[in-house]
Amino acid sequence: MATVSEAPETSQELSEVLEDLRRHLLWQEEDGGRVLQVDARLAAELRGAGLPRPQALARPPAAKAAPPAQPVPAPQPAQAPRAPAPEPERPMAARPAMPRAAPSPEMLLEVPPQSRPIAGALPGVVEGERPTLDQIRRELGDCRRCKLCTGRKNIVFGSGNPRAELVFVGEGPGADEDVQGVPFVGAAGQLLTKMIEAMGYNRDLVYICNVVKCRPPGNRNPEPDEVTACEPFLRAQLRAVQPKAIVALGKFAAQTLLRDTTPITRLRGQWREYEGIKLMPTFHPAYLLRQPAEKKKAWEDLQQVMKFFGKQPGQRG
Ligand code: SF4
Repeated sequence: MATVSEAPETSQELSEVLEDLRRHLLWQEEDGGRVLQVDARLAAELRGAGLPRPQALARPPAAKAAPPAQPVPAPQPAQAPRAPAPEPERPMAARPAMPRAAPSPEMLLEVPPQSRPIAGALPGVVEGERPTLDQIRRELGDCRRCKLCTGRKNIVFGSGNPRAELVFVGEGPGADEDVQGVPFVGAAGQLLTKMIEAMGYNRDLVYICNVVKCRPPGNRNPEPDEVTACEPFLRAQLRAVQPKAIVALGKFAAQTLLRDTTPITRLRGQWREYEGIKLMPTFHPAYLLRQPAEKKKAWEDLQQVMKFFGKQPGQRG
């Protein structure tokens, strides 16, 4: 290995290089190189604390501000020796990119409604073909298309006859339905069962489902983005069953299917049409439990449905 004494030319070159380096550092110190000193100190502190270097350290030095005007100093007889230049910071190796946080369910749920599947565009369900309820249920899967997935115990898809002539559509599952995974099994469900039987049917003859398949927390109303996310599955269910008539229970079912914001008090009792299927809006059984005086109106609405099917009160099948 060559030494300085053995290679005077090399020693000379080395001295020149070191002098160049010293001048460069002095210039840097005066012209923005302070950042390097700050970097070196912070880097040492951070290394001691075992912390990653902050992003700010990677910023280029700020543009140098014009120095304030200084009075011209009186000439000094002897220049004080300049403090030794700081040891140059070794260039930092390219730092690996900070790992990005995995998207939270909330972030995933921020998908704009227009990018979600629409009725007739459910993957696995061919447009123009009659899907089966099993296909639609498979497509729904362990659905996380809206925030209602976070609090549910069970997806409440629907129950009853997959070829029913009459379908009842409610709003969404309550606590009992959430636990059992079956629509309309709580107090409102018991009233609906009585209404169905009074019409001459039973629950196995009709099909029952909801606009949203997961329980809104605290039984609150479904929010528009939740209805938008879940509605395609309801529409697919209706295409699968192809009933002759639909009873829309309450304002959410009626307004969603009819795309009509008219209050349920004015919608109820009037035949409407949903994709060529007769649709009767009426009150939701939960509302009737709170307002029993309105049961008479609901019964009048259901009697119109019975008339459509040629049924008499008490007639079975
Ligand atoms: S309410 Fe419907 S869209 Fe929302 S998570 Fe449940 S099944 Fe999916």
